[in-house]
Amino acid sequence: MNWIDRDKESIWHPFTQLVNGFDHIMIEKAEGLYLYTPEGRKIMDAISSWWVNLHGHSHPKIAEAVFQQASKLEHVIFAGFTHEPAIILAEKLLSILPENQSKIFYSDNGSTANEVALKMAFQFWYNKGEKSRTKVIAFEGAYHGDTFGAMSVGDRGPFSAPFSPFLFDVEFLPTPTQENEAELIIQFEQLIKDKEVAAFIFEPLVLGSAGMKMYAPELLDKLLQLAKENEVICIADEVFTGFGRTGKNFASDYLTTQPDIFCLSKGLTGGTMALGVTSCTARIMEAYKSTDIMKTFFHGHSFTANPIACAASIASFDLLMKEETQMQIRNISDWQKAFQERINNHPKVLNSRVMGTIFALELKTDEDTSYVNEVRHQLYPFFLERDILLRPLGNVIYILPPYIIKKEEIERIYQAVEEMLIQLNIGRH
Ligand SMILES: *Cc1c(COP(=O)(O)O)cnc(C)c1O
Repeated sequence: MNWIDRDKESIWHPFTQLVNGFDHIMIEKAEGLYLYTPEGRKIMDAISSWWVNLHGHSHPKIAEAVFQQASKLEHVIFAGFTHEPAIILAEKLLSILPENQSKIFYSDNGSTANEVALKMAFQFWYNKGEKSRTKVIAFEGAYHGDTFGAMSVGDRGPFSAPFSPFLFDVEFLPTPTQENEAELIIQFEQLIKDKEVAAFIFEPLVLGSAGMKMYAPELLDKLLQLAKENEVICIADEVFTGFGRTGKNFASDYLTTQPDIFCLSKGLTGGTMALGVTSCTARIMEAYKSTDIMKTFFHGHSFTANPIACAASIASFDLLMKEETQMQIRNISDWQKAFQERINNHPKVLNSRVMGTIFALELKTDEDTSYVNEVRHQLYPFFLERDILLRPLGNVIYILPPYIIKKEEIERIYQAVEEMLIQLNIGRH
């Protein structure tokens, strides 16, 4: 049997239908911007492998850090013990997170970072004896991960439908748009004034999985101010927006009022391996400082603060802080803006948007904009045939390259998008 057949026999892939089993593409190695198949095909990774990769694949500095760490201390229990990579990484993260952040809690991925944040917020009120603070507010269309808590605060759509009886109650605010800001603020005020809301969780400025939907920092600032006045804990899920994606280190750097809790993952290790971080303020932590064992935060994973993952993160962090990387983030932002101007008035483009290094384009189709929009089945192969990996969210095409991409390389993506706009028959009939 060849590799592809063996894959079909033995593996269940994520977010993948099990019928009409198409062949998964075998990848043998990856370097910089490109993925290589055993046959020598070279595919440009224009979505940073699900938004995780920052500095290109198999980066030598990260590879070296992983090798060195694996040869010295691969793992150790993180209760009762600690290690250098965890301490150095925590200090580095705190040095660029907003000043109000004071402690780092490690976990395994983006979903667990959000689970930790929610539990931290719920138990904060429990420890303080305010038992009526049990509600949570989130945005419709939000994505916070695939575990139960994260699913509960995420969009109630096709992905969560089979589990809806098992998800806890959440107060949903409409996805922010330019039109609904005033209404949204009133609704938020109504919800929080009864002092029953424990936390407000959100993807700051960009709702990624919802189709790169962007909203104004002024709106989020307003909501955060109201939340602060009513003591509601604000959780910024920066799993996707963190580490330069929006043009600044964190999307929250565009805000004046800072969230209480941050969730990080994806780009944290430079996209090399899984690691999650939840940071919090001194105020949150204070509620846990007690001799009463019942006030302990009883949460942990076997691989909490895995030294190899921490070492990869430190190497990635140092690369991110380099002036040449920061310059590249500005360059990519400029290129994306210029491309937006180039195609924004195209008759097949409903809307296009840019926030830092993130570009998104919404196609006009007969169906509504959504992840299950059928046009996706035309778009994905169109780009792959041109050896470009773009993975549209329904009728939304987004370009999210690693920061090492060169101008002529991103131009190749732009030309493919323009070619697609000419060739595909997707306009309203
Ligand atoms: C991807 C993502 C998550 C989930 O992260 P995983 O590592 O896939 O569990 C959570 N929140 C946001 C905003 C994300 O984009």
